Amino acid sequence: MTIDSTMSERPLTITSLFRHGTSVHGQSSVATLGDGPVRRSDFTQVAEGAKRLAAALQRLGIRRGDVVGTLAWNNQEHLEAYLAVPSMGAVLHTLNLRLSPDQLTFVINHGGDRVILVDASVAPLLAAVLPRCPAVEHVVVIGEGEAGALGEAARYNELVSAEEPRFAWPELDERAAASMCYTSGTTGDPKGVVYSHRSVFLHSLAAWGQLELRNDDRLLAIVPMFHVNAWGLPYTGWMVGIDFVMPDRFLQPASLVRTIEEEGVTYSVGVPTVWNAILRHTDAHPSDLSSLRRVVVGGAAVPRTLMEAFRERHGLEIVQAWGMTETSPLGAVALPPKGVGSEEEWEYRSMTGRIVPGVELRIADDKGEVLPWDGKSAGEIEVRGPWVTAAYHRDPAPDRFHDGWLRTGDAGTVDHRGFVRITDRVKDVIKSGGEWISSVELENQLMAHPGVAEAAVIGVPDQRWDERPLACVVLKEAAPVTPEELSAFLAERVPRLWLPERWSFIDKIPKTSVDKFDKKALRARYAEGSLVVNELARAER
Ligand code: ADP
Repeated sequence: MTIDSTMSERPLTITSLFRHGTSVHGQSSVATLGDGPVRRSDFTQVAEGAKRLAAALQRLGIRRGDVVGTLAWNNQEHLEAYLAVPSMGAVLHTLNLRLSPDQLTFVINHGGDRVILVDASVAPLLAAVLPRCPAVEHVVVIGEGEAGALGEAARYNELVSAEEPRFAWPELDERAAASMCYTSGTTGDPKGVVYSHRSVFLHSLAAWGQLELRNDDRLLAIVPMFHVNAWGLPYTGWMVGIDFVMPDRFLQPASLVRTIEEEGVTYSVGVPTVWNAILRHTDAHPSDLSSLRRVVVGGAAVPRTLMEAFRERHGLEIVQAWGMTETSPLGAVALPPKGVGSEEEWEYRSMTGRIVPGVELRIADDKGEVLPWDGKSAGEIEVRGPWVTAAYHRDPAPDRFHDGWLRTGDAGTVDHRGFVRITDRVKDVIKSGGEWISSVELENQLMAHPGVAEAAVIGVPDQRWDERPLACVVLKEAAPVTPEELSAFLAERVPRLWLPERWSFIDKIPKTSVDKFDKKALRARYAEGSLVVNELARAER
């Protein structure tokens, strides 16, 4: 005899998260930075704004399943769109405002956006691509600033204030599309991922637990809301009733540090390059980061030295996390396991992270054979789970999936406790004389040198070894460091075979639209001969 569950199957929707935060946390706050004084609202006001926005979008003709794009920084209006658009049954498409005009045109057209909400500060970018986006029927400008060629477009404030703060949210299927996001295309063309209400709901619960967000937190999300839904934190934070501190476009280290100090920020998240810049700023300008209790850094490998420096100089705990657009993004978080000593704790903290419950993860070799979790066997990481994509939007990409598992494009190992260590992106792997050299490890070790500000390592063709590493290094101001010295420094920390012979000292590492090292651009600069490369004699092997 089978027994049926007696549980209700109420759908897991963003609408229900939205309702919960509105009714339980009405007094939690949203502060947005601007040219003038900080704008302050509470959740009750934001919820009213979301209802007015839904009504305004309906008046513009938006119906269930229609796509509403946003080209905006982290601000209150963007949060209102996050809540309103999926809850009315439409699909929120967060557009990356750092894409090139061609890429932006591609994702707007490919996504099928009918209305776009755009910050006045980035209106010229949209104006430039709009003539090539025939499906866009309406543009709505957020904020009071000049909107250049979009000067005639509707204004967000006028549109929403003409509506009543009432909206009859429809009953939605939890599997319905809620929002979409394109990968930033670090290693290829952008690909669209469409999240469902269910996936966002489940991810929000997982993120709450794994990131240990608390009701009394004041969150400064530096990661943009156009980068994987700001790692899901707008939804998690709304559900938990935190206070949001929205940096809008004021993302310079000095401004971020001032905001942390003035707003009493307790929790922040961002990519390593941003936290590296903040660290350097605080080294030069005495700063008080003592309100922060937790910083989560991910999106690229986090150098251990960065974590150590924040702990030593600011008593601040950095936790590394791993994820991708395709995984909503949370896949692994590097919280050390219980019962480990302080040195071992650092080992775990500097790994990529421990698999979060709800995500299944395995590694497979070149032939697709699944490898053991022994901390040594290396292969491509594959994942599946209720907030992991099983396809791409209007792009079958069968090569990105393996028996229903997503091929992440990341290479690494997993140990018996489920701790992942990413050694490279598959496309960045350096294969030298049949052996893998981890560019991530080389970069982390180089960035541990006191004279190095940033370092990116790429594979370049080599007659004898097929490929060898080229170290591209940005030195701290006036640091008189030579390649010989860096090579000697590395020799104590990595296998001899890994030691780069080729060195290039550059002013800046090119960055992608989400502030990661752009190795595609570095490889192109090497190929066209525009990098000045210093070659050391090959080390004895
Ligand atoms: P893109 O691939 O275009 O950068 P995403 O923002 O989705 O787009 O990035 C996901 C990728 O970022 C992962 O596949 C991985 O390569 C990298 N990544 C994210 N977090 C980490 C981490 N903690 N360590 C190493 N790599 C990471």
